[in-house]
Amino acid sequence: MTTTTVPAPAFQEPTPTPVSLLLLGRTADPRSERGVECPGDLPPASDPDLVARAAAAKAKLGDRLFVLGHHYQRDEVIQFADVTGDSFKLAQQAAARPEAEYIVFCGVHFMAESADILTSDAQQVILPDLAAGCSMADMATAEQVERCWERLEDLGIAEGVVPVSYMNSSADIKAFTGRHGGTICTSSNAERALEWAFDKGSQVLFLPDQHLGRNTAVRDLGFSLDDCVVYNPHRPDGGLTDDQLRAAKMILWRGHCSVHGRFTPETVDEVRERIPGVNVLVHPECKHEVVEKADYVGSTERIIALLDEAEPGSAWAIGTELNLVKRVAAAHPDKQVVFLDKSVCYCSTMNRIDLPHLVWTLEALADGRVPNVIEVDADTAHFARVALEQMLALP
Ligand code: SF4
Repeated sequence: MTTTTVPAPAFQEPTPTPVSLLLLGRTADPRSERGVECPGDLPPASDPDLVARAAAAKAKLGDRLFVLGHHYQRDEVIQFADVTGDSFKLAQQAAARPEAEYIVFCGVHFMAESADILTSDAQQVILPDLAAGCSMADMATAEQVERCWERLEDLGIAEGVVPVSYMNSSADIKAFTGRHGGTICTSSNAERALEWAFDKGSQVLFLPDQHLGRNTAVRDLGFSLDDCVVYNPHRPDGGLTDDQLRAAKMILWRGHCSVHGRFTPETVDEVRERIPGVNVLVHPECKHEVVEKADYVGSTERIIALLDEAEPGSAWAIGTELNLVKRVAAAHPDKQVVFLDKSVCYCSTMNRIDLPHLVWTLEALADGRVPNVIEVDADTAHFARVALEQMLALP
């Protein structure tokens, strides 16, 4: 039998997915990472005693409390973190502190879910503002991903497809990955995760960040852009023909980070013109054409390490969340560190966690009330853990 294969179309940056905006903290969408009701009377941001109140509540709780601070958090919050790091490092740190009854996660919803999955039943994970979701994680819902998988099954190719899901995904998506023999990855180990997946199968379904998937496949594994297709959950059949799905090596989910997606090739050109000799360092969640123009690509931990190793007097333009860039710049006064873009680029949902929310949370805990607990159901947690453990076992 002769089969004809239609070549995958040349890569084109997709237009943004229309995500309906919910007023943060004002409406409810419990199946989503975004916008759920945040109860309670918050202290006013103008209260001059907020720092003292947070310190007092933290001291009262002692070892029963462990505060995690993601790299993208505000300084006013980070000052109270017992440990800082990326989402996976923080979840591991929480699991390594079994004596801490309360894990206050200053980050976003999917991170708190991961911490709940990895910690014991005796520990409660608390998110100071339930409206702190992640727009990227929101771009892949369980129903959408199940529909995509049914399509692959109907085509008869699902058996050879290995799901690889970025840490930045909901517990539902991690559980889907575990149920179908896949692995989780971070921006530090995405290359190893893809190598493992291609040893196991012939195609990868990469969720939910198309840019990390494409950048890793093309830059690190040597695939071509034509080996990648983008599955759009808002289009019938994902917007892809049967032949396109069969021919693709990488089936990329149409998700992206709204913060890293803002950097453009023009911002790289502009900073090179402004600062001759500057080293451009970007996160792999940036678009492929931005990554192609950069000198270095690395996860948040790698960005911090590269600046620690950099020569005094060297100049760096960094393409990642602004809170982290500002802290890196402050830690290296002997180097010129600038933000890659000219416009402000904070992660708005990360920034939902502010000092009033932290004080409100810590004081509630000190008074014996446990607010905003993030709890993943047992079945979802089991399969999500399977996928996370597969990541830890990557060669
Ligand atoms: S920086 Fe991007 S990926 Fe990280 S929490 Fe914010 S929107 Fe999500």
